[in-house]
Amino acid sequence: MVCHGSTPIEPQALPQPVLRSIPRDQHPISRKDISPNALRVLYRLREAGFGAFLVGGAVRDLLLGRHPKDFDVATDATPEQVRQLFRNCRLIGRRFRLAHVVFGREIIEVATFRANSDDGSGGREVEDGRLVRDNVYGTIEEDAVRRDFTANALYYAIEDFSVRDYVGGFEDVQARVLRLIGDPATRYREDPVRMLRAVRLAAKLGFTIDPATAAPIPELAPLLAEAAPARLFEEMLKLFLAGHAVASFEGLERFGLLDVLMPDTARALRSNRSGALRRMLVEGLRNTDARVAADEPVSPAFLFALLLWPAYCRALAELQAQGMPSEEAQRRAADRVTLRQVQPIALPKRFPLPMQEIWLLQSRFSPRQRKRVFRLLAHPRFRAAYDFLVVRLAASDSHAADVEFWRHAQQVPGDELAASLGAAAAAGEPEMLPSRRRRRRRRRGGGNGGGAGEGQAGE
Ligand code: ATP
Ligand code: MG
Repeated sequence: MVCHGSTPIEPQALPQPVLRSIPRDQHPISRKDISPNALRVLYRLREAGFGAFLVGGAVRDLLLGRHPKDFDVATDATPEQVRQLFRNCRLIGRRFRLAHVVFGREIIEVATFRANSDDGSGGREVEDGRLVRDNVYGTIEEDAVRRDFTANALYYAIEDFSVRDYVGGFEDVQARVLRLIGDPATRYREDPVRMLRAVRLAAKLGFTIDPATAAPIPELAPLLAEAAPARLFEEMLKLFLAGHAVASFEGLERFGLLDVLMPDTARALRSNRSGALRRMLVEGLRNTDARVAADEPVSPAFLFALLLWPAYCRALAELQAQGMPSEEAQRRAADRVTLRQVQPIALPKRFPLPMQEIWLLQSRFSPRQRKRVFRLLAHPRFRAAYDFLVVRLAASDSHAADVEFWRHAQQVPGDELAASLGAAAAAGEPEMLPSRRRRRRRRRGGGNGGGAGEGQAGE
């Protein structure tokens, strides 16, 4: 057998598939819960004489009574044959060749059954145990066992509306267990991102990770550093912007994956004895989850500002301890953290700048001179930076007065705000609030710029 790369996949890593067919009256999946476009694709393939199945996350989610976010189809038709059946079809992917059938905004992904073995054609390539190319077509049985988790390897057949299970996934879904198919360590070596998928799917579905599936993760976590940085960015968004960020974070931390994905943040959290940075981070993630639940927009720049804030605080504290002036230290810390982070995770070019602006603006919430107040209010990143300041309250109430001032500043008309600021300045009270009600005075932060508050508290 010809194998591209050094290590062949051990065949014993995968179990023998045994078919269990669950008839329509023994499972809850109904055609009315399936996207009409996916049904069109399934019927069309079947009419043309091909096998056609709904597969993967969609079947799993339907069994759980959840709404799938996308519908994937598996078939024995090759990508070229699929293309001939659908006018609205394009073929994509090199590492994993797929057909996309496009219906306006909905894309139905159609994948040809794949085998987890090398036929010598060059369709499958493995380098150091990792799968870098996976285009050897196979049978449905072969396709089932090369998938990641048993719960993800179920097939809904359009010909008789049965669910076909080759690996015990149906029972695992009922028991809400995430179990890797085959030998876990081998499957993680083959594709380390599966470790993140385990944490993500457990967080998303509220599943437990089977002990044998969980056991190798802490030891193999460092392999993630070799995964493609762009793919890790995509996984980060799925982990943190899909409504289960807190659970994802806890899972990553528990399995030692955070140390590989965000080493500086992991280190800063550990050295922050008061736990203030962790509280702030978790509070921010909780807000993110609430926004997703309420269908409000969430931004990757804000997310990364949050996730890297502990690292930023730590870097800033170090630079300031070396005697660097505050503003320069802030800029340097922001650059240092960004540069180090883009090594494991590729942040697309448009995100670092707004992320850094959110950090740097944190030190501009204390001054109350009229000009500065209006300049900050007009800053394009003001709202994000203010929301960030609100999240920071979870770590320390020392900016409670700032939050109150800026909340008010956004609500009152400009001339009223200007007048109140003028009055405050004239009275020699630059921190006084625009309203006449008495407020708690802000505690002074020692002139280090608001941004480093919690970081220094914990060092
Ligand atoms: P989600 O609900 O987040 O989309 P999903 O299980 O559908 O979860 P996808 O990334 O959409 O995840 O993948 C679709 C299917 O492809 C999975 O259900 C699984 O069967 C298979 N799959 C995806 N990634 C891998 C992988 N790294 N290794 C093996 N199989 C995979
Ligand atoms: Mg999916």
